[in-house]
Amino acid sequence: MKQGHGLPVFSGVAIGDAVVYRKSERNLPVSSGDPALEQNKFNAAVEIARQQLSALFEKAKVEIGEEQAAIIEVQMLMLDDLDYLDGVAMAIEGGAAAALAALDTGEEFAQVFAAMDDEYMKARSADIRDMSHRLYDILCGNTGFQLPEGSFLLVADDLAPSETIQLPRERILAFVTRQGSSSSHTAILARTLNIPSLVQADISLDIAEDCKVLAVDGFTGTWYADPDEETMAMLLKKQAEAAADREALEAFRGKESVTKSGKKILLCANIGSPEDAVSAVAADCEGVGLMRSEFLYLGRSNLPTEDELFEAYKQVAITMGERPVVIRTLDIGADKQVDYMGLDEEENPALGLRGLRICLTREEIFRPQLRAILRASAYGNLLVMFPMVASVWELKAAKALCAKLRKELEDEGVEVKDVPIGVMVETPAAAVLARELAKEAAFFSVGTNDLTQYTLAVDRQNAKLDKFYDPYHPALMALLAHIAKAANEAGIWAGICGELGADPKMTEKFIEMGYTELSMAAGRILGARKQVCESEL
Ligand code: PEP
Ligand code: MG
Repeated sequence: MKQGHGLPVFSGVAIGDAVVYRKSERNLPVSSGDPALEQNKFNAAVEIARQQLSALFEKAKVEIGEEQAAIIEVQMLMLDDLDYLDGVAMAIEGGAAAALAALDTGEEFAQVFAAMDDEYMKARSADIRDMSHRLYDILCGNTGFQLPEGSFLLVADDLAPSETIQLPRERILAFVTRQGSSSSHTAILARTLNIPSLVQADISLDIAEDCKVLAVDGFTGTWYADPDEETMAMLLKKQAEAAADREALEAFRGKESVTKSGKKILLCANIGSPEDAVSAVAADCEGVGLMRSEFLYLGRSNLPTEDELFEAYKQVAITMGERPVVIRTLDIGADKQVDYMGLDEEENPALGLRGLRICLTREEIFRPQLRAILRASAYGNLLVMFPMVASVWELKAAKALCAKLRKELEDEGVEVKDVPIGVMVETPAAAVLARELAKEAAFFSVGTNDLTQYTLAVDRQNAKLDKFYDPYHPALMALLAHIAKAANEAGIWAGICGELGADPKMTEKFIEMGYTELSMAAGRILGARKQVCESEL
């Protein structure tokens, strides 16, 4: 048995097979020095890629439908593109290794496409990149990521949101990453999925790969490779106790979340997709306090269309029925990157073009999303909020666009319900300006993850800074109290949708401050309800 530690981000015990996710190693391949040989290698790789893509295309047709599968067909056509093939041949002739010629020529073409005006052509840049990376991997012998049949514990150096989105979530028993911070989006996903997880774990990928059984104790932050009999018995006992605790919380299912003195607190779920909405209802949520809508944009190679977005929001609205659903508009940027938007690399992405800033800069991206939300409003109880607001003018500009699009839809004869517009308060500027923003907003929802990052100037992605990332910092407490007071004085409601919303140590403090809504990973709702119902406040 081998064992070690990590930082637990969600409690519970998981035991099972370990699957190691290794990013393709991009060691620089060296040319054999013989251009003819390199060209032959490249030609052979094109044939292998063609077979892989054709198998993928058939699979995708069945799983996601012919229209979506067409993305793969586009890549197959690109394998025959004469300009691309000539570009590669020239690079090889100039002395490049076949793998690098494939990759670099692909990148050159991708950049040309990304700079085009036509949205369709722009979106093709990601397809070219995908295709050239595939050729590169074939030429370097990278075999990719094989998943076993049943459920498993996933071990990785780190995981980006664009990678987690592609995983079969229902089969993952735990995440164990060697890097990552407790407020990273992988940690947030683990909480959403209700699975024990560790970040900054001292496990080597080789140990994980070689062991027969991997176990994670999310209570203590310990991992065990091939646990001995005694450890296994201890883990199984803890697992059974955790199941019994969950069972005990069932007594609070269907109850109203009201304190002993009668304060009503709305306990909502944070979701990322229509499927999450189904789990949220099963977890007895009273609404959705944060739909991270950017997850509809990740793990794909082109912008979702207005109709695709509309279908997703409509599904969420219908699933939630009368319960409120707060949709946060696209919050791409920082750690959530999508190639096809052609955004520049930034030195400080967390302070860069992200959230509402992208939407106000690239109206062609914002417009379809807002139209889709407004159209879906007819099917339920939708609210919308904007991320990364720092100035009143930004809120006014986004509201003006909503009003324009509402009018446009009404003129088209489309039914649009009233959609209250709120602000996600997650920059210190928005917190300080809460009184001014409250005049323009229907509600506030505080994103404590980013508010902590920006108030304390601590990068939430940087694992080395975890001890400085203090969400209970007095500066934050002062801002949180100020935001709730400003909302109450203006007669609008305020909620919390960052990770702190699920923190049992904060529940009563938030109620005291005047917050009336808490939004969290669905699995935390019954526990929070117990706390609210037992509170004397
Ligand atoms: C936040 O910043 O607190 C938040 C809820 O949004 P995200 O974690 O997606 O940035
Ligand atoms: Mg945020």
